[in-house]
Amino acid sequence: MDIIQLENITKYYGDFKVLDNISLNIKKGEIISIIGPSGSGKSTLLRSLIQLEKINSGKLIVENTIIFDNNKKIDKKLKKDILLKMGMIFQNFNLFPHKTVLENVCEPLILVNKTDKKEARKTAIDLLKKVQMDGKENNYPDEISGGQKQRVAIARALALNPDIILFDEPTSALDPELVNEVLNVIKNLADGNITMLIVSHQMNFVKEISDRIIFMDKGKVLTIDTPKNIFSSENKRINDFFSIIK
Ligand code: ADP
Ligand code: MG
Repeated sequence: MDIIQLENITKYYGDFKVLDNISLNIKKGEIISIIGPSGSGKSTLLRSLIQLEKINSGKLIVENTIIFDNNKKIDKKLKKDILLKMGMIFQNFNLFPHKTVLENVCEPLILVNKTDKKEARKTAIDLLKKVQMDGKENNYPDEISGGQKQRVAIARALALNPDIILFDEPTSALDPELVNEVLNVIKNLADGNITMLIVSHQMNFVKEISDRIIFMDKGKVLTIDTPKNIFSSENKRINDFFSIIK
């Protein structure tokens, strides 16, 4: 089953076409990485999927629900429910600085799911164990490392039990020695059930984890293929990109 369907998605910033007629289908449980030069539209694509950015034209269907279609009226309630099944992890963690680690993870449970406080704490403690952050429940974000912050952000995204998680360069703000602890947590989430879209420049990780890799260039999907084929591609744009990143 295709969990995400994009048909001719186009988006402009002013006159600049940042997403240029993108069509792709993603299956439930697939791990998709998105690579490509800086400015090619990778973040905009993820942000458009979760509707943090407005799409100008085309059609976006998630879990058989129309999220965007400029020719059809959208069922707002259905759309809202589906968007809650999508989580996003940002480069800069986006934790609430005045809340503890535990409170950060409890927040969506209490505010969105209306879970009672005691139950939310229980769930949050379990999620923090899952990302190996037990023992840090009462610390504040500025008392933990960047890698630990990102793991808390992942636990918080998991709180609403998402079907789809979008990662936008989850390790690019981290010191090199902290990258692997976050990548390992992401690897452990891949269970065949959850669908993940990951923008990353960590090529070994991308090669290992992805079912398919999207190569974006100038707002277009240039190729979507298996890691094996992407990494042995004879396409000049792809090879130019690899020679810069290595
Ligand atoms: P990537 O994540 O691949 O580096 P982005 O999606 O962030 O690329 O950006 C794609 C292009 O759109 C870049 O040229 C960027 O400068 C431009 N851009 C991104 N965000 C905005 C914005 N809010 N307003 C105008 N232009 C933007
Ligand atoms: Mg980006």
